[in-house]
Amino acid sequence: MKKKIIFLFLFIPLMAFAQSGGESLPVHSTEVAPGVYRLFVNERVATVLFSGPDGVILIDAAYEQTATQLKAAIEAITQTPISYLVNTHHHGDHVGGNVALGSNAIIISHQYVRDYVSSEHRAGERVIPAMAEEGRPDISFLNELKLDFNGQTLQMLHLPKGHTNGDVIIYFPESKVIVVGDLLFADNFPYVDVGSGGDPMGYILNQQYILDNFPRDLTVIGGHGPIYTMERLREYNLELQKTVETVRIAKQQGMTAEQMKAARILREWEAWGKFFITEDRWIDTLFPVL
Ligand SMILES: [Zn+2]
Repeated sequence: MKKKIIFLFLFIPLMAFAQSGGESLPVHSTEVAPGVYRLFVNERVATVLFSGPDGVILIDAAYEQTATQLKAAIEAITQTPISYLVNTHHHGDHVGGNVALGSNAIIISHQYVRDYVSSEHRAGERVIPAMAEEGRPDISFLNELKLDFNGQTLQMLHLPKGHTNGDVIIYFPESKVIVVGDLLFADNFPYVDVGSGGDPMGYILNQQYILDNFPRDLTVIGGHGPIYTMERLREYNLELQKTVETVRIAKQQGMTAEQMKAARILREWEAWGKFFITEDRWIDTLFPVL
């Protein structure tokens, strides 16, 4: 691990930082289980800290621009340096703080995430430069990785073709917590990064996989939005399926995407459109795949 290069790069986060004015909002810390904290950065993106006798693991590093405030929020909980930083996927609002927070840690991700951040890549129209070497994952895996840490076996599991093609969920069996990254935009329409191998149908199936394969009494932490229970995730997933069926039926009836938007066929879920993905964008995401 040679992590000596200091390299500042222009970084425009996927969900424009400017939407929140770019100002520093507080990091809200919630202890969801003993030693397990959800740190909600700028009221926009969730990271998770697990502190215990073996040390500290951080899941996701939020934006590059919020690294200082996230670091301060972590230091308010523990002075122990971060041993491991896990990235749930490659988007800038999750890996942007990798250099600032992970340069002395072992960074872990799915292999695709390592590939993305290690070379110049596109995000829609934008070109994202390669990340400085000290912010790139040191350990990457394809299907599953288990880590014995702080008295439990953390399970990192790849769920393909969801939000991206490299999404990883992290299960804390003793803490009864599951961190699902952007496979959950709680209380919102999800962003599905089709250009990076995401798939709206796979997104729904991946949520169902989580519901079908993990205990019912877990706390569910998504990348955006409030903390959920498994029951709330089930309800959300059913609503998401209803949005899909609504668009599918409209398409079968011959409506174009523009007609669906004009008719506001997803108006029932208008509260889900206020954060990032609007009703119209969700229609545009679904229309080509139905
Ligand atoms: Zn994302």
